[in-house]
Amino acid sequence: MAGQNSIASGLSTLLEILEREKYLGVETIALSGDGERLLRALPSSLKGGPRGNVTAVNSESESRTASPTKGKEGNLENRSPGFPVPLVSESERTEVWAREQLRRIFKAVRDCPSCRGLGTLFDTVVYASGNPQADIMFVGEAPGAEEEKVKRPFVGPAGQKLDQIIKAMGLTREEVYISNIVKYRPKQGDGRFQGSGNRPPREDEMEVSMPYLRAEIEVVRPKVIVALGKTSAEGLLERGDSLGKFRQGDHEFEGIPVIVTYHPSYLLRQEASGEESQANGAKRAVWEDMLKVMDLLGMPVTPKQRGYFK
Ligand code: URA
Repeated sequence: MAGQNSIASGLSTLLEILEREKYLGVETIALSGDGERLLRALPSSLKGGPRGNVTAVNSESESRTASPTKGKEGNLENRSPGFPVPLVSESERTEVWAREQLRRIFKAVRDCPSCRGLGTLFDTVVYASGNPQADIMFVGEAPGAEEEKVKRPFVGPAGQKLDQIIKAMGLTREEVYISNIVKYRPKQGDGRFQGSGNRPPREDEMEVSMPYLRAEIEVVRPKVIVALGKTSAEGLLERGDSLGKFRQGDHEFEGIPVIVTYHPSYLLRQEASGEESQANGAKRAVWEDMLKVMDLLGMPVTPKQRGYFK
């Protein structure tokens, strides 16, 4: 079974490489005799294996639209091959290159048939904003009504809260990268009577959107990802848990550390509840998480910043 899985994952890597080459305009690939024999032997190696254990991607359309499957521990197995980002050398990864790649991903998100096909998301794309080579990437869940109006992430009340957090870290919005897992505002019902109401994205909406965020991460290559809220953490880490448990754990996404913290909307709700001690507790927790981010990046932390909540 382990052998079958490694064949499957090898095939899936091969498929990704071929997709990248195709994107780069390569139409034919020379194959050595050994390579050809190896490929021809693959179907028989896979034959007769236990059903459901091999997660090979059979075709692009199947994999892009596949609904998440539950793994052994109830974790989601993302079977998407991803949206290909060209492999380039470090010296070619300039800011101009990154902007160009992010524009390309934007165009693909705008066309995303799997996202539109669900029928549960509004039509306007709300893409990412910020520095294409940022060290910190903030990832929210999905845009709301305010974001949809101006087509920018985190511009409503939650966005203003996020601005305060970024400022407290000694940074500006222009220095970080801000994105969402889902790039369209989720509908409530058929959306006709929704007004300014918002809802968090569902698993299937995140599943079809993840290839684009994955590609953004591959382009920006942040040193730390901050998952804003439980839904964002679930989408990124492909498993469910409570925010408290997520905050306690060490996580990574493709080798990049992920810090999970409360969503800015949660802070707003706590403030509005009038429960001062609860609101302060949530703020303190977010600030502890941001100090972790700053420490991870080796950013200077002033005594005032270190002691905000002491
Ligand atoms: N909430 C999010 O998760 N993302 C936004 O862009 C706005 C609010």
